[in-house]
Amino acid sequence: MAQASFFPWHQEIAQHWLGHQERFAHAWLIHGLAGIGKRDFALAAAQSLLCESPNHGLACGQCLACGWVESGNHPDLKRIRPEAIAVEEGAEQDSEDEGATESSASPDSGGTSKRAPSKDIRVDQIRALEPWFNNATHRGGWRVAVIYPAEALTVISANALLKVLEEPPPSTVFLLVADAPDRLLPTLLSRCRRLPLPTPVFAVAQEWLEAQGVKQADQWLAACGGAPVLAKKQAATGAHPCPDWLEEFILTLSKGGMPDIGKLADVIAKSTAASWIDPLQRLSVDALMISNHLPGRYFPVLESPLAKLLAGKSASALSELSNWLNDQRRLAGHPLNPKLFAHAVLQKMALTFLRAQPRQ
Ligand SMILES: [Zn+2]
Repeated sequence: MAQASFFPWHQEIAQHWLGHQERFAHAWLIHGLAGIGKRDFALAAAQSLLCESPNHGLACGQCLACGWVESGNHPDLKRIRPEAIAVEEGAEQDSEDEGATESSASPDSGGTSKRAPSKDIRVDQIRALEPWFNNATHRGGWRVAVIYPAEALTVISANALLKVLEEPPPSTVFLLVADAPDRLLPTLLSRCRRLPLPTPVFAVAQEWLEAQGVKQADQWLAACGGAPVLAKKQAATGAHPCPDWLEEFILTLSKGGMPDIGKLADVIAKSTAASWIDPLQRLSVDALMISNHLPGRYFPVLESPLAKLLAGKSASALSELSNWLNDQRRLAGHPLNPKLFAHAVLQKMALTFLRAQPRQ
Protein backbone atom coordinates (compact mmCIF):
# COMPACT_ATOMS: atom_id res chain seq x y z
CA MET A 1 0.00 0.00 0.00
CA ALA A 2 1.49 3.31 -1.05
CA GLN A 3 1.55 6.18 1.37
CA ALA A 4 -1.88 7.66 1.90
CA SER A 5 -2.07 11.35 2.64
CA PHE A 6 -4.85 13.85 3.02
CA PHE A 7 -5.73 15.96 0.02
CA PRO A 8 -5.24 19.69 0.65
CA TRP A 9 -9.01 20.26 0.83
CA HIS A 10 -9.35 17.68 3.60
CA GLN A 11 -6.37 18.65 5.78
CA GLU A 12 -8.23 20.98 8.07
CA ILE A 13 -11.17 18.69 8.75
CA ALA A 14 -8.77 15.76 9.31
CA GLN A 15 -6.74 17.73 11.83
CA HIS A 16 -9.81 18.85 13.70
CA TRP A 17 -11.34 15.37 13.71
CA LEU A 18 -8.20 13.45 14.66
CA GLY A 19 -7.22 16.05 17.23
CA HIS A 20 -10.17 14.98 19.40
CA GLN A 21 -9.48 11.29 19.88
CA GLU A 22 -10.33 11.27 23.57
CA ARG A 23 -14.01 10.97 22.66
CA PHE A 24 -13.54 9.09 19.42
CA ALA A 25 -16.47 6.96 18.26
CA HIS A 26 -15.68 3.33 17.41
CA ALA A 27 -17.48 3.46 14.05
CA TRP A 28 -17.47 6.31 11.55
CA LEU A 29 -19.26 6.69 8.29
CA ILE A 30 -17.15 8.88 6.02
CA HIS A 31 -19.37 10.07 3.20
CA GLY A 32 -19.55 12.65 0.43
CA LEU A 33 -19.60 13.08 -3.35
CA ALA A 34 -17.93 10.31 -5.39
CA GLY A 35 -14.41 11.19 -6.53
CA ILE A 36 -13.37 13.71 -3.85
CA GLY A 37 -10.85 11.39 -2.18
CA LYS A 38 -12.79 9.73 0.62
CA ARG A 39 -10.88 6.44 0.42
CA ASP A 40 -7.55 8.26 0.66
CA PHE A 41 -8.96 10.21 3.57
CA ALA A 42 -9.93 7.03 5.42
CA LEU A 43 -6.56 5.36 4.74
CA ALA A 44 -4.63 8.46 5.79
CA ALA A 45 -6.81 8.64 8.90
CA ALA A 46 -6.02 4.99 9.66
CA GLN A 47 -2.29 5.75 9.38
CA SER A 48 -2.72 8.78 11.63
CA LEU A 49 -4.51 6.70 14.26
CA LEU A 50 -1.75 4.08 14.18
CA CYS A 51 1.18 6.55 14.04
CA GLU A 52 3.37 6.52 17.15
CA SER A 53 4.33 10.18 17.07
CA PRO A 54 1.49 12.01 15.35
CA ASN A 55 1.88 15.68 14.58
CA HIS A 56 -1.34 17.55 15.55
CA GLY A 57 -3.20 14.28 15.12
CA LEU A 58 -1.73 13.54 11.66
CA ALA A 59 0.70 10.72 10.77
CA CYS A 60 4.40 11.61 10.99
CA GLY A 61 5.40 9.42 8.06
CA GLN A 62 8.67 8.57 9.88
CA CYS A 63 7.93 6.11 12.67
CA LEU A 64 7.90 2.32 12.56
CA ALA A 65 4.08 2.20 12.50
CA CYS A 66 3.94 4.63 9.55
CA GLY A 67 6.50 2.50 7.73
CA TRP A 68 4.40 -0.61 8.29
CA VAL A 69 1.24 1.11 7.06
CA GLU A 70 3.01 2.39 3.96
CA SER A 71 4.33 -1.05 3.08
CA GLY A 72 0.92 -2.62 3.76
CA ASN A 73 2.17 -4.64 6.72
CA HIS A 74 0.68 -3.05 9.81
CA PRO A 75 -0.91 -5.86 11.83
CA ASP A 76 -3.46 -3.50 13.38
CA LEU A 77 -4.84 -2.28 10.05
CA LYS A 78 -7.25 -4.15 7.80
CA ARG A 79 -8.68 -2.96 4.53
CA ILE A 80 -11.99 -4.62 3.72
CA ARG A 81 -13.03 -4.05 0.11
CA PRO A 82 -14.39 -6.14 -2.76
CA GLU A 83 -11.88 -8.32 -4.60
CA ALA A 84 -12.55 -6.36 -7.78
CA ILE A 85 -11.28 -3.20 -6.08
CA ALA A 86 -8.32 -5.03 -4.57
CA VAL A 87 -7.40 -6.09 -8.12
CA GLU A 88 -7.77 -2.51 -9.38
CA GLU A 89 -5.48 -1.34 -6.59
CA GLY A 90 -2.80 -3.75 -7.77
CA ALA A 91 -3.95 -6.64 -5.57
CA GLU A 92 -0.75 -6.79 -3.58
CA GLN A 93 -1.16 -9.73 -1.25
CA ASP A 94 -0.96 -7.63 1.89
CA SER A 95 -1.19 -9.37 5.19
CA GLU A 96 -4.41 -7.36 5.52
CA ASP A 97 -5.94 -9.39 2.71
CA GLU A 98 -5.91 -12.76 4.45
CA GLY A 99 -9.68 -12.95 4.54
CA ALA A 100 -10.02 -12.47 0.81
CA THR A 101 -7.27 -14.85 -0.27
CA GLU A 102 -8.18 -17.73 2.03
CA SER A 103 -11.66 -18.04 0.64
CA SER A 104 -10.75 -17.71 -3.02
CA ALA A 105 -8.45 -20.70 -2.60
CA SER A 106 -11.24 -23.06 -1.65
CA PRO A 107 -10.77 -26.78 -2.48
CA ASP A 108 -13.33 -26.87 -5.31
CA SER A 109 -11.59 -24.03 -7.14
CA GLY A 110 -8.34 -26.00 -6.95
CA GLY A 111 -6.67 -23.00 -5.30
CA THR A 112 -6.52 -21.01 -8.52
CA SER A 113 -9.91 -19.40 -8.89
CA LYS A 114 -10.68 -18.18 -12.40
CA ARG A 115 -14.05 -16.60 -11.64
CA ALA A 116 -14.42 -12.84 -12.03
CA PRO A 117 -13.36 -10.97 -8.90
CA SER A 118 -16.32 -10.24 -6.63
CA LYS A 119 -17.79 -6.75 -6.55
CA ASP A 120 -19.26 -7.38 -3.11
CA ILE A 121 -17.77 -7.36 0.35
CA ARG A 122 -18.51 -10.95 1.25
CA VAL A 123 -19.61 -12.15 4.63
CA ASP A 124 -16.51 -14.33 5.04
CA GLN A 125 -14.39 -11.17 4.78
CA ILE A 126 -16.23 -9.83 7.84
CA ARG A 127 -16.14 -13.17 9.69
CA ALA A 128 -12.41 -13.50 9.03
CA LEU A 129 -11.88 -10.47 11.28
CA GLU A 130 -12.99 -12.39 14.39
CA PRO A 131 -9.55 -13.71 15.48
CA TRP A 132 -8.07 -10.28 14.82
CA PHE A 133 -10.52 -8.67 17.25
CA ASN A 134 -9.71 -11.25 19.91
CA ASN A 135 -5.99 -10.52 20.06
CA ALA A 136 -4.43 -7.58 21.81
CA THR A 137 -3.30 -4.88 19.39
CA HIS A 138 0.33 -5.33 18.42
CA ARG A 139 1.49 -1.88 19.37
CA GLY A 140 -0.93 -1.32 22.24
CA GLY A 141 -2.85 1.38 20.39
CA TRP A 142 -5.78 1.41 18.02
CA ARG A 143 -6.85 -1.31 15.68
CA VAL A 144 -8.38 0.11 12.50
CA ALA A 145 -10.67 -1.52 9.95
CA VAL A 146 -11.28 0.52 6.78
CA ILE A 147 -14.34 -0.67 4.86
CA TYR A 148 -14.89 0.67 1.37
CA PRO A 149 -17.16 1.20 -0.38
CA ALA A 150 -19.69 0.39 2.33
CA GLU A 151 -22.35 0.10 -0.40
CA ALA A 152 -20.57 -3.10 -1.46
CA LEU A 153 -21.59 -4.84 1.78
CA THR A 154 -24.25 -7.42 0.99
CA VAL A 155 -27.24 -7.63 3.32
CA ILE A 156 -25.63 -10.65 4.96
CA SER A 157 -22.22 -9.03 5.40
CA ALA A 158 -23.82 -5.80 6.63
CA ASN A 159 -25.68 -7.79 9.26
CA ALA A 160 -22.50 -9.59 10.30
CA LEU A 161 -20.80 -6.22 10.66
CA LEU A 162 -23.77 -4.90 12.60
CA LYS A 163 -23.36 -7.72 15.14
CA VAL A 164 -19.74 -6.68 15.64
CA LEU A 165 -20.68 -3.02 16.05
CA GLU A 166 -23.33 -3.86 18.62
CA GLU A 167 -20.61 -5.19 20.91
CA PRO A 168 -17.55 -3.41 19.59
CA PRO A 169 -14.19 -5.01 20.29
CA PRO A 170 -11.90 -2.90 22.49
CA SER A 171 -9.54 -0.26 20.98
CA THR A 172 -11.05 -0.80 17.54
CA VAL A 173 -12.10 1.89 15.07
CA PHE A 174 -14.20 1.11 12.01
CA LEU A 175 -14.01 3.58 9.14
CA LEU A 176 -16.77 2.99 6.60
CA VAL A 177 -16.58 4.92 3.34
CA ALA A 178 -19.67 5.62 1.23
CA ASP A 179 -20.84 7.80 -1.66
CA ALA A 180 -24.48 7.09 -0.95
CA PRO A 181 -25.27 6.47 2.74
CA ASP A 182 -28.96 6.10 1.85
CA ARG A 183 -28.10 2.79 0.19
CA LEU A 184 -26.85 1.33 3.49
CA LEU A 185 -28.90 -0.62 6.04
CA PRO A 186 -30.51 1.91 8.40
CA THR A 187 -29.57 -0.27 11.38
CA LEU A 188 -25.92 -0.13 10.29
CA LEU A 189 -26.14 3.64 9.78
CA SER A 190 -27.52 4.07 13.28
CA ARG A 191 -24.36 2.45 14.70
CA CYS A 192 -22.01 4.91 13.00
CA ARG A 193 -21.12 8.53 13.70
CA ARG A 194 -21.19 10.49 10.48
CA LEU A 195 -18.28 12.42 9.08
CA PRO A 196 -19.44 14.23 5.93
CA LEU A 197 -16.53 15.26 3.72
CA PRO A 198 -16.91 18.46 1.71
CA THR A 199 -16.43 18.81 -2.03
CA PRO A 200 -13.53 21.22 -2.53
CA VAL A 201 -14.06 24.77 -3.73
CA PHE A 202 -13.75 24.75 -7.53
CA ALA A 203 -10.65 26.97 -7.63
CA VAL A 204 -8.82 24.85 -5.04
CA ALA A 205 -9.65 21.66 -6.92
CA GLN A 206 -8.62 23.22 -10.23
CA GLU A 207 -5.30 24.37 -8.84
CA TRP A 208 -4.62 20.87 -7.51
CA LEU A 209 -5.54 19.27 -10.86
CA GLU A 210 -3.27 21.67 -12.73
CA ALA A 211 -0.44 20.85 -10.33
CA GLN A 212 -1.04 17.19 -11.22
CA GLY A 213 -0.36 18.08 -14.85
CA VAL A 214 -3.96 17.75 -16.04
CA LYS A 215 -4.67 19.84 -19.15
CA GLN A 216 -8.08 21.53 -19.44
CA ALA A 217 -8.39 21.09 -15.69
CA ASP A 218 -11.43 23.38 -15.45
CA GLN A 219 -13.34 21.41 -18.08
CA TRP A 220 -12.48 18.05 -16.56
CA LEU A 221 -13.53 19.29 -13.18
CA ALA A 222 -16.83 20.59 -14.54
CA ALA A 223 -17.50 17.31 -16.37
CA CYS A 224 -16.94 15.44 -13.09
CA GLY A 225 -19.23 17.66 -11.03
CA GLY A 226 -16.31 19.26 -9.15
CA ALA A 227 -14.78 15.97 -7.92
CA PRO A 228 -11.01 16.37 -8.49
CA VAL A 229 -9.86 12.80 -7.85
CA LEU A 230 -12.40 11.47 -10.34
CA ALA A 231 -11.41 14.23 -12.80
CA LYS A 232 -7.76 13.20 -12.58
CA LYS A 233 -8.66 9.57 -13.24
CA GLN A 234 -10.88 10.47 -16.20
CA ALA A 235 -8.32 12.84 -17.69
CA ALA A 236 -5.77 10.01 -17.60
CA THR A 237 -7.90 8.04 -20.08
CA GLY A 238 -6.75 10.42 -22.82
CA ALA A 239 -10.32 11.25 -23.89
CA HIS A 240 -11.86 14.74 -23.95
CA PRO A 241 -13.69 16.28 -20.97
CA CYS A 242 -16.83 16.32 -23.08
CA PRO A 243 -16.98 12.91 -24.81
CA ASP A 244 -16.56 13.19 -28.62
CA TRP A 245 -19.79 11.29 -29.31
CA LEU A 246 -21.73 13.66 -27.06
CA GLU A 247 -20.28 16.72 -28.74
CA GLU A 248 -21.10 15.34 -32.18
CA PHE A 249 -24.64 14.50 -31.03
CA ILE A 250 -25.38 18.01 -29.77
CA LEU A 251 -23.54 19.90 -32.53
CA THR A 252 -25.52 18.07 -35.21
CA LEU A 253 -28.80 18.72 -33.42
CA SER A 254 -27.98 22.38 -32.89
CA LYS A 255 -27.51 22.73 -36.65
CA GLY A 256 -31.00 21.31 -37.17
CA GLY A 257 -29.76 17.91 -38.36
CA MET A 258 -30.47 14.41 -37.08
CA PRO A 259 -27.33 12.73 -35.70
CA ASP A 260 -26.37 9.28 -37.01
CA ILE A 261 -27.90 7.48 -34.02
CA GLY A 262 -26.89 4.02 -35.25
CA LYS A 263 -23.24 5.00 -35.50
CA LEU A 264 -23.21 6.78 -32.13
CA ALA A 265 -24.99 3.85 -30.45
CA ASP A 266 -22.33 1.49 -31.82
CA VAL A 267 -19.63 3.68 -30.29
CA ILE A 268 -21.13 4.04 -26.82
CA ALA A 269 -22.50 0.51 -26.49
CA LYS A 270 -18.89 -0.72 -26.40
CA SER A 271 -18.59 0.53 -22.82
CA THR A 272 -20.85 0.00 -19.81
CA ALA A 273 -24.27 1.65 -19.86
CA ALA A 274 -23.37 3.69 -16.76
CA SER A 275 -20.36 5.19 -18.54
CA TRP A 276 -22.54 6.82 -21.20
CA ILE A 277 -25.78 7.38 -19.29
CA ASP A 278 -23.95 9.44 -16.67
CA PRO A 279 -22.79 12.04 -19.25
CA LEU A 280 -26.29 12.06 -20.76
CA GLN A 281 -27.74 12.76 -17.31
CA ARG A 282 -25.28 15.61 -16.88
CA LEU A 283 -26.16 16.88 -20.34
CA SER A 284 -29.84 16.92 -19.41
CA VAL A 285 -29.05 18.92 -16.25
CA ASP A 286 -27.13 21.43 -18.38
CA ALA A 287 -30.02 21.57 -20.86
CA LEU A 288 -32.49 22.33 -18.06
CA MET A 289 -30.29 25.05 -16.63
CA ILE A 290 -29.62 26.63 -19.99
CA SER A 291 -33.31 26.59 -20.91
CA ASN A 292 -33.88 28.48 -17.63
CA HIS A 293 -31.22 31.03 -18.64
CA LEU A 294 -28.68 29.74 -16.14
CA PRO A 295 -25.12 28.72 -17.00
CA GLY A 296 -24.62 24.96 -17.58
CA ARG A 297 -22.71 23.06 -14.95
CA TYR A 298 -20.92 20.17 -16.65
CA PHE A 299 -20.03 20.80 -20.30
CA PRO A 300 -18.99 24.41 -20.97
CA VAL A 301 -18.11 23.47 -24.56
CA LEU A 302 -21.78 22.61 -25.26
CA GLU A 303 -23.13 25.79 -23.73
CA SER A 304 -23.71 27.78 -26.91
CA PRO A 305 -24.89 24.89 -29.13
CA LEU A 306 -27.37 23.91 -26.39
CA ALA A 307 -28.57 27.50 -26.03
CA LYS A 308 -29.15 27.61 -29.79
CA LEU A 309 -30.90 24.23 -29.83
CA LEU A 310 -33.17 25.01 -26.90
CA ALA A 311 -33.99 28.65 -27.67
CA GLY A 312 -37.71 29.27 -27.15
CA LYS A 313 -38.45 25.66 -26.21
CA SER A 314 -40.31 24.49 -23.14
CA ALA A 315 -38.42 23.34 -20.07
CA SER A 316 -41.12 20.84 -19.05
CA ALA A 317 -40.21 18.34 -21.79
CA LEU A 318 -36.59 18.60 -20.67
CA SER A 319 -37.56 18.02 -17.10
CA GLU A 320 -39.50 14.89 -18.08
CA LEU A 321 -36.52 13.74 -20.11
CA SER A 322 -34.29 14.16 -17.08
CA ASN A 323 -36.61 12.00 -14.93
CA TRP A 324 -36.83 9.41 -17.68
CA LEU A 325 -33.02 9.25 -17.89
CA ASN A 326 -32.77 8.75 -14.13
CA ASP A 327 -35.10 5.75 -14.47
CA GLN A 328 -32.97 4.37 -17.31
CA ARG A 329 -29.88 4.80 -15.16
CA ARG A 330 -31.44 2.64 -12.45
CA LEU A 331 -32.36 -0.05 -14.99
CA ALA A 332 -29.07 0.14 -16.82
CA GLY A 333 -27.18 -2.57 -14.90
CA HIS A 334 -27.35 -5.27 -17.54
CA PRO A 335 -29.37 -4.33 -20.62
CA LEU A 336 -30.34 -7.40 -22.65
CA ASN A 337 -29.11 -5.77 -25.83
CA PRO A 338 -26.69 -2.91 -25.07
CA LYS A 339 -26.70 -1.55 -28.64
CA LEU A 340 -30.48 -1.47 -28.87
CA PHE A 341 -30.69 0.16 -25.46
CA ALA A 342 -28.16 2.87 -26.43
CA HIS A 343 -30.04 3.45 -29.66
CA ALA A 344 -33.38 3.88 -27.86
CA VAL A 345 -31.95 6.32 -25.34
CA LEU A 346 -30.19 8.49 -27.94
CA GLN A 347 -33.26 8.48 -30.18
CA LYS A 348 -35.50 9.61 -27.35
CA MET A 349 -33.09 12.39 -26.40
CA ALA A 350 -32.70 13.64 -29.96
CA LEU A 351 -36.46 13.76 -30.53
CA THR A 352 -37.06 15.54 -27.23
CA PHE A 353 -34.45 18.18 -28.01
CA LEU A 354 -35.80 18.73 -31.50
CA ARG A 355 -39.49 18.70 -30.63
CA ALA A 356 -39.69 20.30 -27.17
CA GLN A 357 -42.77 22.46 -27.59
CA PRO A 358 -42.19 26.19 -27.91
CA ARG A 359 -42.92 28.24 -24.80
CA GLN A 360 -46.46 29.61 -24.66
ZN1 LIG B 1 4.24 7.95 12.33
